[in-house]
Amino acid sequence: MKRNCSLEEISDGRLYSINDMVRADCQDCKGCSDCCKGMGESIVLDPYDVYRLKKGLNTDFNGLLSTCMELNVFDGIILPNLRLSGKDEKCTFLNAQGRCDIHQFRPGICRLFPLGRYYENGGHKYFLQIYECTNKSRSKIKVSKWIDTPELKTHEKYIDEWHYFLKAIQYNAAKVSESDLKNINMYILNQFYVTMSVNENFYQVFCEKLKCAKESLNSITDI
Ligand code: SF4
Ligand code: SF4
Repeated sequence: MKRNCSLEEISDGRLYSINDMVRADCQDCKGCSDCCKGMGESIVLDPYDVYRLKKGLNTDFNGLLSTCMELNVFDGIILPNLRLSGKDEKCTFLNAQGRCDIHQFRPGICRLFPLGRYYENGGHKYFLQIYECTNKSRSKIKVSKWIDTPELKTHEKYIDEWHYFLKAIQYNAAKVSESDLKNINMYILNQFYVTMSVNENFYQVFCEKLKCAKESLNSITDI
C-alpha cells in the first residue's frame, strides 16, 4: 500500500537489497501479535498471495471471500485484503495462542514486516520501518532470509511487474468512464485472482496474463 510520508520519517534512512543485513529479526515474536491486529485494510493481497492462500487452504477465490478476505477500492482499483474480525480487529488467522495459523503460506506483507518496499526506477528496495514493530531488541538478519520466499529473484521481478502495472492502471482510473473502470476492475480481478489456477506455474501464467492485460487495456489506459 502506498504511504504519504517521506522515507526519513518512518525508517532508518537506509535502503536494503536482498543480500544486506537488516535489524528486522524479532526472534519469533515471543508471544507478541501486535501487527496482526487493528491494521485496517492494509494487508492488501497481490495475485501470488491469493494463489498461495488458495493452495494452502485448498479453496478457491469465493472460499477466501467467505472466510478471510474482503474487497476494497485502492486508488480506484478493487483489490483483495485480509479481513479482520472481532472487537479487537484481529486477523482471522491469528490463533488463540497468538500465533499465525498460516505461517507457511502467509501473505507477502506479513513476510516483510517490519520491512517495507520502496519502489524506484522500475524496481524496488527494502526499508526498515522503525516505529512499527513493538520489539525494540531485534537482531540483524539477511533480508532474503527474513522474507523467506522461494525463487526470490523471480518473485522480485514479478512484484515489480505487478506494482508498475497496477500503478499505471491506478493512475488512469480517474480518467476513464465509470463503465470502463468497472470493466477494468472485473478484468483484473478475474484474470489475476479468480482464474489463477493453483495447478499451474504461477510465474509463467502471470507473465502470459500480464502480456494479455497490457494489450487488452492499452486502448483504455495507455499502459
Ligand atoms: S510487532 Fe514485531 S514482535 Fe510483535 S508480532 Fe509484529 S513483528 Fe512480531
Ligand atoms: S496472516 Fe498471519 S502473520 Fe499475517 S496478519 Fe494474519 S496472523 Fe498475522
